[in-house]
Amino acid sequence: MPELPEVETIRRALEPQLLGRRLAHIDVLERVHLLKNCTPEALQERLVGRRLTALGRRGKFLIFEFGPWAMVLHLRMSGRLLWTPARHTRLVLQFRDEEEQGRALYLDDARRFASLYLVRADQLDEQKPLKDLGLEPLTPAYTWAAFRRLLDSEREVKRLLLDQTRLAGLGNIYACEALFEAGVHPRKPARALSPEEARRLFEAIPRVLRRALRAGGTSFDRYRRPDGSIGRFQEEFRVYGRAGAPCPRCGAPIERITQGGRSSFFCPRCQPF
Ligand SMILES: [Zn+2]
Repeated sequence: MPELPEVETIRRALEPQLLGRRLAHIDVLERVHLLKNCTPEALQERLVGRRLTALGRRGKFLIFEFGPWAMVLHLRMSGRLLWTPARHTRLVLQFRDEEEQGRALYLDDARRFASLYLVRADQLDEQKPLKDLGLEPLTPAYTWAAFRRLLDSEREVKRLLLDQTRLAGLGNIYACEALFEAGVHPRKPARALSPEEARRLFEAIPRVLRRALRAGGTSFDRYRRPDGSIGRFQEEFRVYGRAGAPCPRCGAPIERITQGGRSSFFCPRCQPF
């Protein structure tokens, strides 16, 4: 958390407010955990005074482009970008528009897992942290052929979906929900999926992500939109966090198992092994 729908929701909220504005000031209040490849001085020198020329996303990363330089931010467990200061502010970006009207953005991060990289904008695909990211589900690159190549693996399909170097943006919630939609058991080796199962999973992933985007993401923990409002997708969970509750399709109790140290929720009847 946050996963693709939450990060994209944040991106869409920030873009109309910040695009074209000049970065007037940057305040790094916590550098040790946050800054991965640069100093506060380098951020100052390369970004301050420049306009935000693009605000993109790749997987769970937000990409703030300031002309030739980009600031790449991963919110990890508890990071949030807010229009108002909060208790655990680690970074402040102060923007100004043509009329010198200010607009500040605050990174709040209680658990200090958020990470920030400074990268040349023309090298985003070749540099850390974006260079190893896999297939992007809501883009034209997400094709049936590419997805079939991704499934050519002995690994458990759920763990494969969480591997950001194979598929970018999915986390535990949306992997569980997509596998349920597709009727695929989370422990099934990816290569053992029938062509029908693979096809259903290929279609379920973007469908679940789009539904979550329409709900503004999932706010069952710390995730908030920049204005502080919550997402509503937790109200639409079919299996995630519902162990013991009846399957919305067949009524059988939802089961919980652990894979790679993380919980998987599934319906044993609708998702046969
Ligand atoms: Zn069921």
